[in-house]
Amino acid sequence: MTSQTIRARFAPSPTGYLHVGGARSALFNYLFCRRNNGKFILRIEDTDIDRNIVGAEQKILDDLRWLGIDCDEGPGVDGAFGPYFQSQRRDTYDAACQKLLASGDAYYAFDTNEELDVLRKQAEAAKTGFKYPRPDPLPTAADADRARAEGRPVVVRFKVPDEAITIHDEILGDVTFAAGELDDFVIVKSNGWPTYHFAVVVDDTHMEITHVLRAQEHLGNTPKHVFIQRALGVPTPKYAHLPLVFNIDGTKMSKRDKHKAVRQGVKDAIKQNNMTDAQVVELTGASSDAVERWLKKKADAELSMDQVAKLAAAAGVTIPEIDVHDFRVSGYLPEALLNFIVLIGWSPGGDREKLTRDEMIELFSLDRINKTAGRFDREKLLAMNLDWCSAAPTERLVEAFKDWATLNDSHMAALDDATLGRVLDSCRGFRTLPDVVAKAGILFESDDAVVFDEKAVAKVLAKNDGAGFAMLESLLPQLESLEPWTAEAIEGFVKNICESTGSKMGDVAQPIRVAVAGRPVSPAIGDTLVFLGRDKTLNRIRRCLQQR
Ligand code: GLU
Repeated sequence: MTSQTIRARFAPSPTGYLHVGGARSALFNYLFCRRNNGKFILRIEDTDIDRNIVGAEQKILDDLRWLGIDCDEGPGVDGAFGPYFQSQRRDTYDAACQKLLASGDAYYAFDTNEELDVLRKQAEAAKTGFKYPRPDPLPTAADADRARAEGRPVVVRFKVPDEAITIHDEILGDVTFAAGELDDFVIVKSNGWPTYHFAVVVDDTHMEITHVLRAQEHLGNTPKHVFIQRALGVPTPKYAHLPLVFNIDGTKMSKRDKHKAVRQGVKDAIKQNNMTDAQVVELTGASSDAVERWLKKKADAELSMDQVAKLAAAAGVTIPEIDVHDFRVSGYLPEALLNFIVLIGWSPGGDREKLTRDEMIELFSLDRINKTAGRFDREKLLAMNLDWCSAAPTERLVEAFKDWATLNDSHMAALDDATLGRVLDSCRGFRTLPDVVAKAGILFESDDAVVFDEKAVAKVLAKNDGAGFAMLESLLPQLESLEPWTAEAIEGFVKNICESTGSKMGDVAQPIRVAVAGRPVSPAIGDTLVFLGRDKTLNRIRRCLQQR
């Protein structure tokens, strides 16, 4: 290794959006580098052509940017170790493979899938685990050429040494894997591209990675990686495997949770006769076989996320957020999500919880990472989001709200910054950004969009012989001439009415609110009427009086 600088990387595969587990790995690598004046590298592991999803890498980059996790080297950020897409590094892998073939640490194999299946079945019948039988003598390059000419798939396998291996993990300590646990795994596929195990080692070496912080599910892969490093005669970086992220019920958090939640909701709806099998098939537009397999949990892949979303809407199920993008769409602030994520499996000590990114950088250390899985407590995340929203300056809320509103095609995206700022301030205390639309959105729609809630009308306007209606009627001319039309003046006006009629603030404000918003929920009455403006206020009150 030529450099002593700490270099760590986040290496996502573009097979989907960035999920919270991935974001946590990215964040820990980022913090570790920032804390130690290191370099944080972003590498896109896109050699598995069949699994790559078009545009996924852009989404991952966007999500990282949204979270404020910026890299020192990576796609779009030049560094001396690029390119940072594995798909552009084929030569490096080819050279490393040739080296292993020449030293006898790797060999060609050309079994067909059918042949491998037979071997697997034999191992199954004999109740021995399947291990690829290393041929003796090993095939030569000429054998491989002949096999290729016969149309056989030619791969390169790594010759795993028959010895135990101990991995030193910075979090878990020494972890020993017994001899004989691994078989000769494939390092280069028949299409010429390296497998993950090979590419990751070659790249970590070439990019001079000193520390690999990644999810614990990769721990079992690490012996493979270290054996390859030894065969190539290159240094082994320090490994730190991060605890898994569990749902609150103790199951592993995964993309499948989305399907699981909707599947359960649809099954319940069918059981309660709120939905029929035929409706489910029709809603998805899929074949009834596919729907049945999906319902029986045979394979999530039977239905796309779009189809699942349609079912969720029909069954009234909320799809749980799993990907970073889901939380963005649901109206969380990135700083709140980041703060929440950093506490999954790590803590700064004491009972300190609220942390800005700079504070995280200052306090981060590997020795405070837990060995055991962390829980994803959604209630806690909501509470944290409320906290961050409440503490955020108005300009920050405006910026975050515009991002959310644009993403969700909300009609409130069109409001100017000054108005938005006043609306957000008037709604403070909200948990997520859509709560603002729920509270104030109707004030920015057309008057016809107001739907009067029957219960609210009965309770606030119609009872006592329509006392509420009568009051609205008497207020109309006064509101017509009220000057100036400001929140203070309107609040003062309502207060005066209360004093002169001996009623409480709510007795006057609630009828007005129901008249202009359709429900007894909106920002403070002065703000509510200012946001509406005088004309719309009067128009809506007149419209409401027709409900009598
Ligand atoms: N591409 C791998 C993944 O997405 C990276 C694992 C690693 O960090 O080595 O899981």
